[in-house]
Amino acid sequence: MNKINWNFENTYSKLSNSFKQNIDPVPVKNPQLVLFNEKLGSELNLDFSKISKKDLSEIFSGNSLPEGSNSIAQAYAGHQFGHFTMLGDGRAVLIGEHLSKNNKKYDIQFKGSGKTAFSRNGDGRAALGPMLREYIVSEAMNGLKIPTTRSLAVVKTGEDIIRETSLPGAILTRVASSHIRVGTFQYIAARQKKDELEILLNYVIERHYQNLKNSRNKPLELLNIILEKQIDLVVNWMRVGFIHGVMNTDNMSISGETIDYGPCAFMDFYDPKTVFSSIDQMGRYAYCNQPIITKWNLSRFAECLIPLIDKDQNKAIKLATEIINTFEKKYEEKWLNMMRQKLGLFGIEENDKFLILDLLTWMHQKRVDYTNTFCHLMNYEIYNNQDFKDNNFKNWKKRWQVRLLKNNNTPEKYKKLMRSVNPFVIPRNHKVEEVLNEAYNNKIDPLKKLLQVLNTPYSEKKIIKEYLTPSYSNEKYQTFCGT
Ligand code: AMP
Ligand code: MG
Repeated sequence: MNKINWNFENTYSKLSNSFKQNIDPVPVKNPQLVLFNEKLGSELNLDFSKISKKDLSEIFSGNSLPEGSNSIAQAYAGHQFGHFTMLGDGRAVLIGEHLSKNNKKYDIQFKGSGKTAFSRNGDGRAALGPMLREYIVSEAMNGLKIPTTRSLAVVKTGEDIIRETSLPGAILTRVASSHIRVGTFQYIAARQKKDELEILLNYVIERHYQNLKNSRNKPLELLNIILEKQIDLVVNWMRVGFIHGVMNTDNMSISGETIDYGPCAFMDFYDPKTVFSSIDQMGRYAYCNQPIITKWNLSRFAECLIPLIDKDQNKAIKLATEIINTFEKKYEEKWLNMMRQKLGLFGIEENDKFLILDLLTWMHQKRVDYTNTFCHLMNYEIYNNQDFKDNNFKNWKKRWQVRLLKNNNTPEKYKKLMRSVNPFVIPRNHKVEEVLNEAYNNKIDPLKKLLQVLNTPYSEKKIIKEYLTPSYSNEKYQTFCGT
């Protein structure tokens, strides 16, 4: 086979068997490439130009494993909707860690690759729809400049899988800076072997946070840095109206990337209680709860680190709690700054918070589209909308315009700022469903077109109206876990 430039340097597979199971993907019957991300391939310094579609199908189904790969399923645990469970890669294998340009390292993982020791009652497989959905939304997040795992390929397996009905099976190639989760720490901590916990801590520092190598208290500083990263991440989600849907601790990445696109979706009209996931009956993972859950998950992470923070358990708890308790203040500050940017505001003024909250309250009461409101404020009219003729909004806008010009602001400056944080286009739910339906009927072009539009969400050029219209209908939009 032609040279692709895979450059594997596998480190996780060298850890002891407490951390993983050595296992190859289970071969599939008739692999057929559905999507391939050429751009990501070249970002990874890989060259697929001389590889036939048939060979790509063999590669990204796991039927032919690249030289230097060393497949494993990773062990992890997690709090799922608040309940602790031992989990692990039940339908995924990490084929290896690829070293790209500048020595940047990426996990290459096949999702839907067959049973592992962690499959419990599952079949180890994934359906085409959810894998395409993950591809669309993760690439959209990347376009939005939000840290995320990426999608390199989707291959149909040629095998049907049984869910409520029979569905076409598929494998997604996921690329991540690592797949280490809060749940990975929970798994190791539950085994109560301090030396293993120490190995994981040092592994994470070596892999992601090398500047902590000489810290006085590595676990404590790791907690602090991950708290900052997760706040940044959730503020970004709030910025674009993204609702993850299953913020279980196993779905929180230590690297600070968005991971595990299941029932996630973007909010249309502003309602802080928005929930799309069919299984989230209590609204645990509603839009407005995302920061609260982030803190809850970080607290579970902190608990894992207690034995490493200090020999004196009480002291360790006190130190970790002090860090966790900084969450609210840091979050509020970062959230306010993010909202100031969305409104083009420079500097800090006493009434900023009221100005921001008043706009959100108005959007909520009037059920106005979140994304398009900011487009309107950037003078970009997306669709014929009467909402902005409302007197309450007009009054709010006058207050905003007075605030806007403070602190030496100019139209040039605020337009530039607003344009950098307010997307014109997000993956609208109706559009995602539409292209998935087409893909089911073997028409992949509409999906590719959507991906193209989502690639540059901050650019108003060439945007077609159908991608900007919210999915208003009387029926509540629901998403499913899609395993
Ligand atoms: P997820 O909802 O994708 O975050 O998965 C939660 C857990 O269920 C993980 O341990 C998965 O590996 C496992 N899982 C999900 N689907 C399957 C499946 N079809 N077969 C085996 N394990 C699965
Ligand atoms: Mg998961």
